Amino acid sequence: MHIHEYQAKDLFRQFNIQTPRGVLIHNTDMAFDACDVLGGEVWVVKAQVHAGGRGKSGGVILCHSIKAVEAACRKLLGSRIITEQTGPKGLPIKQVLVEEGQNIENELYLSLLIDRQIQKITILAATEGGMDIEQMAAQMPNKIIKFSIDPLGALNEDDCSKIATQLQLKKPLFTQFTTILLGLYKIFVQKDASLIEINPLIITQGQLIALDAKIDFDDNALFRHEDISKLRDNSQEDEKAIQACKYQLSYLSLDGTIGCMVNGAGLAMATMDLIKYYGSSAANFLDVGGSTTAQSVAKAFELIQTEANVRGILINIFGGIVRCDLIAKGILQALEKVGLSLPVVVRLEGTNATQGLELLDKSGFNIHPESDLNKATIKIVTLAK
Ligand code: GDP
Ligand code: MN
Repeated sequence: MHIHEYQAKDLFRQFNIQTPRGVLIHNTDMAFDACDVLGGEVWVVKAQVHAGGRGKSGGVILCHSIKAVEAACRKLLGSRIITEQTGPKGLPIKQVLVEEGQNIENELYLSLLIDRQIQKITILAATEGGMDIEQMAAQMPNKIIKFSIDPLGALNEDDCSKIATQLQLKKPLFTQFTTILLGLYKIFVQKDASLIEINPLIITQGQLIALDAKIDFDDNALFRHEDISKLRDNSQEDEKAIQACKYQLSYLSLDGTIGCMVNGAGLAMATMDLIKYYGSSAANFLDVGGSTTAQSVAKAFELIQTEANVRGILINIFGGIVRCDLIAKGILQALEKVGLSLPVVVRLEGTNATQGLELLDKSGFNIHPESDLNKATIKIVTLAK
């Protein structure tokens, strides 16, 4: 799960990581008071969306007067922003963060993530902040400082000093840097984050300040973090993914023509490969999970049918824990509810597969039952042409 910059900065402050002072506003009328509260003569207006790359796309505006702050708010609030991280549809800007402007002396890069290859929380740091890390990794990989944390130990002050030295920080900044890094590590572990990024971490007047903040959380651990779950902003998420999440389905829109409904992520990927192999491509990834119910199958049908590019649906269920006859009943209930306008091929295999296929065959709906996955795939690819 992603959260907004202002939410990440709130969390940073709770862990003694310094950020610029800021006020979150959702309409331009609030801009004057925000500037008044913050004081000073320079402010930054920052679009709050779940994506980076805002600076390059006009979503971060440096202002030298209250009038300019108001103009920036008017421009951003209620509009959509497209950055290199949002996709072509962009994201809606419902809130902006007005911050006291900082005088940047130096920009650094600092992040924590999980290196899956070595199965460790890993710190990435660089003396060159501001630009995106993928670009840096491609252009100057030797500039990236990498430090992996022993999962049986913890990050200690010596480790932090080592990294501070590599970042060529001046000695007086070491204590601050240690506070920041230990704070980030605590957030990462205590809150089950999957990524924390400060880009840039700036040096200004002898201070280290997190000018930007990004935190992603592990969805699978959200159940034990009520405080974090509350930070979810549905306006920033794909409507279909939200619906799917409600019914415990994993759903991802793709741009092919065959809608897929499969139980198990591995089987879903194999199914998509096979569709590709037979000359077509999947319109979505959908894992209905192990504890499939008639209700979730119905929801899955609805989601697939809302994709404009779908020309046919392939259902591929392996009945291990779930019984195929129950799935068949769920499919029929779903069809009665949402109707059927597209060709559907259903492949059932496993527990009670024969009974399931028989139910579908006798149903009167235009469904093509099939027990062989190859044949099922060829059939749906042909029907969807
Ligand atoms: P991102 O583009 O979405 O990653 O947004 P950032 O929060 O990183 O802001 C983009 C860029 O705007 C930063 O890299 C800075 O160069 C600039 N910027 C942001 N805040 C300030 C500020 O207070 N003062 C100055 N001078 N520049 C800022
Ligand atoms: Mn940034």
